[in-house]
Amino acid sequence: MTTRTVAFSKDSSNLFFHILTKCNLCCTHCYINKDQHGANTLDIETIRNWLGIFSDKASKTNVIFLGGEPTLHPDLHLAVKAAKRLGFKSITIDTNGYLFHNILDNITPNDVDFLSFSLDGATKKTNDDIRGKGSYDKVMEGIQKSLTKNFSCSMIYTVSDMNIHELELMPDLVKNLGIKRFFIQVIGIRGKSSNTDEKLQVTRETWLSTIPEIAEKIAAHGIVVTYPKVFLNKEDIFQCAGIVADNYFIFPNGRVYQCPVCEDFPLHSHEIKNNQLITTPKINEKDLFGLTIPEGCVMNKMIQPQNLSYRQDGTPEYLIACCMLKEELSKNPS
Ligand code: SF4
Ligand code: SF4
Repeated sequence: MTTRTVAFSKDSSNLFFHILTKCNLCCTHCYINKDQHGANTLDIETIRNWLGIFSDKASKTNVIFLGGEPTLHPDLHLAVKAAKRLGFKSITIDTNGYLFHNILDNITPNDVDFLSFSLDGATKKTNDDIRGKGSYDKVMEGIQKSLTKNFSCSMIYTVSDMNIHELELMPDLVKNLGIKRFFIQVIGIRGKSSNTDEKLQVTRETWLSTIPEIAEKIAAHGIVVTYPKVFLNKEDIFQCAGIVADNYFIFPNGRVYQCPVCEDFPLHSHEIKNNQLITTPKINEKDLFGLTIPEGCVMNKMIQPQNLSYRQDGTPEYLIACCMLKEELSKNPS
């Protein structure tokens, strides 16, 4: 088993492209905030133009098409083909499993690297309580249909207090499912999750006593597992991806963020206007990235202070990592 920390690099870039915010589901933890990101659907010409903005570094850039539910976009297949033509390093579609507009008939496994399915519980009850009735079956059906057509599939499990108890069932569930990658995410306090009094994020103790062990069990089945580090060890050095990496979270109203934790606020460092990427005036997220604080991530301290814990003398017990710092486990490293 190999574990490696996936460090940020300016040599590799990620484009998280929300082509619409519309969705057929209404997940209890949905991070989409229409007040901040609008409700429009980008037309295919605009999608092509916006992809073109990043085409200079296409060979080093992974594109992830998101929504809302991206398969609700009738021209998603054309967007995928446009990204392919521009030579992006990899292309992924994140989906809730409903696979609208016959997307599997309109693209080929040669067009996309991964179809990534979101499942938030090992049982129908837990998943459907979070994501909506019938969504568990749709994910399972979607994976099977995709595999039949030779698409590579991955799964995303967003861990919260509502479903961490079922993570231990996941190694058996995914064992023979045919997925190649499994992503564990931590629930973010944004979108709907920021409007509840319930404590959704799990404690450091629970995270550390659960996640690495389960990740190892899943990876033992030959599935590559990725999970956020969240809490730094003493020997780890804190780095902010906003400073040292090249990630863009694009929304259909033109806002472009470099930090997903900022997405509930008008703190975007760029926006797209007239098909040009322009820098926004101060104060924006970039002005916050450089602030050095003993707790590590400045946005976590501002938005998710419940993640922090202090000693009696006021010093933090641990540092919070950048949300984009990941651990990757694989049985057979390439
Ligand atoms: S599937 Fe995604 S976009 Fe749709 S409601 Fe759920 S979290 Fe939100
Ligand atoms: S999560 Fe924190 S460390 Fe990471 S980019 Fe955002 S502000 Fe920087």
